[in-house]
Amino acid sequence: PEIIRTKELQKVYRMGAEEVHALKSVSIEVNRGEYVAFMGPSGSGKSTLMNIIGCLDTPTFGQYVLNGKDVSDMSENELAEIRNKEIGFVFQTFNLLPRATCLDNVALPLIYAGFNKKDRDEKAFLALKSVGLDDRIHHKPNELSGGQRQRVAIARALVNNPSIILADEPTGNLDSKTSYDIMDLFHELHQKGNTIIMVTHEDDIAHYSHRVIRLRDGLVESDEVNPNPTVVD
Ligand code: ADP
Ligand code: ADP
Repeated sequence: PEIIRTKELQKVYRMGAEEVHALKSVSIEVNRGEYVAFMGPSGSGKSTLMNIIGCLDTPTFGQYVLNGKDVSDMSENELAEIRNKEIGFVFQTFNLLPRATCLDNVALPLIYAGFNKKDRDEKAFLALKSVGLDDRIHHKPNELSGGQRQRVAIARALVNNPSIILADEPTGNLDSKTSYDIMDLFHELHQKGNTIIMVTHEDDIAHYSHRVIRLRDGLVESDEVNPNPTVVD
């Protein structure tokens, strides 16, 4: 059963009299539990596609069905609701609140979801525990290493039990040893049945995924199963 289906997706940015066709016609399907990497040169449309898949933006033409719902023409408010429920975001720069503790950072999405403080703290604690940071819950981001910060961000992405984890260059700010630790964690999340989509320009990072979709000039250039993903022990 597919969780993502895009049909002839197009995105046109208008800048004054000029038009930029960031996505020309992108049709892809991703099944629940898949682990996919998006690759492609700068300007090929990766961010635009991720923004649409993450319900941060809508296509100009074409259709996007997320988890059985056509979200192509939804309003801002409807999109925000779907986004909070269905998507966990992980960013290159972690995007943590500097003055909040790990626990509060991870609990944040649960405020929007309407949980009370006790439930929020409990769920945030469990999410932090699942990424191996239960001994750091009262630390602030600047008291942690880069890899630990990314783990906090991953815990935040997981805390709402989203349908999809969208990771935009998740290892872009990490050294290679720490990057492998994060790929180890993604491997674990994939084993548990999570659907993961990451953007990366690094071949060795993409090689952890099980399918690589390459974009070029707003089109899918290739879409291939990775027969031999890098093994994490
Ligand atoms: P990538 O993530 O692969 O680098 P993007 O999706 O960011 O690609 O960009 C695809 C194309 O759309 C590029 O030509 C870029 O300049 C253009 N673009 C992206 N965002 C905007 C925007 N907000 N307004 C105008 N043009 C944009
Ligand atoms: P913002 O004005 O910061 O976009 P929203 O309330 O619309 O605030 O954001 C809702 C969710 O979308 C949050 O979980 C946030 O982390 C995520 N989000 C916001 N901006 C982006 C972005 N550019 N790319 C990916 N996710 C984003």
